[in-house]
Amino acid sequence: MSRTLVVRGKHVIRPGSSGPASIHIQDGVIMAIDKFDSAPAGIELVDAGDDVVMPGLVDTHVHLNEPGRTEWEGFHFGTRAAAAGGVTTVIDMPLNSNPPTTTADGLQAKLEAARHQCWVDAGFWGGVVPGNGDQIEPLIADGVFGFKCFLVPSGVDEFPEVTEPDLREVLPVIAGNHSVLLVHAELPGPIAAARRATGSPRSYESYLSSRPRTAENEAIELLIRLSKEFAARVHIVHLSSADAIPALRRARSEGVPITVETCPHYLAFSAEEIPDGATPFKCAPPIREKENRERLWAALAEGVIDFITTDHSPCPASMKRMESGDFFQAWGGITSLQFGLASVWTEAQRRGYSLEQVVEWLATRPARVAGVPRKGAIVEGNDADLVVFRPDAAVSWPQVLHHRHKLTPYDGRPLIGIVERTILRGTTIYDRGEFAVSPSGKILYGLLNRLNKASADEARSLFFRCCGSSKWAALMERRRPYSSLNELLEQADRTWNELSVDDWLEAFRAHPQIGESSTSKWSQEEQAGTRSAEAAVLKELAEANRRYYEQFGFIFIICASGKSGAEMLAALRARLNKDRETELRNAGEQQSLITRLRLLKLVTS
Ligand SMILES: [Zn+2]
Repeated sequence: MSRTLVVRGKHVIRPGSSGPASIHIQDGVIMAIDKFDSAPAGIELVDAGDDVVMPGLVDTHVHLNEPGRTEWEGFHFGTRAAAAGGVTTVIDMPLNSNPPTTTADGLQAKLEAARHQCWVDAGFWGGVVPGNGDQIEPLIADGVFGFKCFLVPSGVDEFPEVTEPDLREVLPVIAGNHSVLLVHAELPGPIAAARRATGSPRSYESYLSSRPRTAENEAIELLIRLSKEFAARVHIVHLSSADAIPALRRARSEGVPITVETCPHYLAFSAEEIPDGATPFKCAPPIREKENRERLWAALAEGVIDFITTDHSPCPASMKRMESGDFFQAWGGITSLQFGLASVWTEAQRRGYSLEQVVEWLATRPARVAGVPRKGAIVEGNDADLVVFRPDAAVSWPQVLHHRHKLTPYDGRPLIGIVERTILRGTTIYDRGEFAVSPSGKILYGLLNRLNKASADEARSLFFRCCGSSKWAALMERRRPYSSLNELLEQADRTWNELSVDDWLEAFRAHPQIGESSTSKWSQEEQAGTRSAEAAVLKELAEANRRYYEQFGFIFIICASGKSGAEMLAALRARLNKDRETELRNAGEQQSLITRLRLLKLVTS
């Protein structure tokens, strides 16, 4: 059943513009963004008033640890904490679950475990470990968004680290599939050579000095070289060492396909303030000095660091060894999913950054870099994942913590910014401390690679379903592979505009007439608005269609998604009596829109 809803606010954050707006939502998708007071009478309305409406956040680095270590967190607790923190999409890391996501079977086990448990949408990274090169393509085909590996021991035995020869083996496969390799960038050499500052294992200074910046810097130098050599996309996870920024800046300016994330804990805390024995702050690479932290902020502002993820990595409290305070025995990982937004916003506003900028870092860019379609921005056609946020309100302690384990360095910390409400694909999943009755998160797949890998015949027929010009479908097939969704959509438009009028007419003929029944599932969905139309409207549509065809010699083409029968009739009438050339252009533009929506469906569902 079709469900419509309007969410409106005085401060709606959209790419490139913020201000009063109404977001019109149908069946979980943003259909239109209109003036603040454009909600039709009687429609279901969420009025955010003076609060901010922003896109649901996209956290591409979380460890939910299920199956195998569900007692550390699990999909249920982790994704509830996400919802409470304004995060509507998570991409789960391949390790700390057992089996790890390093084989196609491991991914199946994870999909099985995640089903019906997730409160937000969830996708998965695969893992690269020594000897699993033959699993890369099967994992891509099954829908992972890319691959993660370690250059130092990961902390769990079933996910061993890789060396440069291993990377040389898998990078051509990853590059060939237009996938991406995420790397925990610390090299073991500098860590082995490091001298501890003090003898006490309770001393933070001691732990910090055991994981020197050079371990990160040298790893990043290696990864820049390899990324360049193999033309492979490499993504540096959780950058801590600001000393690596000049090399990254240079590489990026030379066009090396390398991207970078950092985490809230590197941006909020500093080594100077961490008391001895305070193991909830332990993570690897470690939280470094104030001076380092401020350079990370500058690199974010400059764009050398692309975005921020939480690297939420919880464990049972006992593993943090609070009684001994031994940094070298404690589990390395910070519990943070619920407080990622508040902690980043607290620090960002203190430094003069806008909430719009924070949304870029926590939603728009991670969605883009990880290739998660229809997420991370309030634009027409995207999923209606929205957060109602109160940016000036202070978090009051104690707070209900929704992670399974409550030990987190954010507990009791002065934080600004409260998530009032979280909406996932049009459904409120969290509202001032209350959750929906049951979880409604979906599994997300990286399907673009399937299109790239399909046989020529199969790809042509998939493209032909999106646009019924055989020339267009053949060209789109030949112009594969597409390394991103954007590249695919842009190429679709460009190719369409290269075609002849006859090619366009062929594509138009593939559509059923508006108001006519069709066996095509996509046409049926697109024309859903005519199903509920009254008989009188349908009759008038048929009559107007006939006149249109007589006048122009091709059928009336309109991107019908979300439009009612009456709206389509009005549009049809407005386009009658134009000259043929103008009307061809109109129809061509509508076909472009239809193709776009269909390509998105193809790649994302
Ligand atoms: Zn991690």
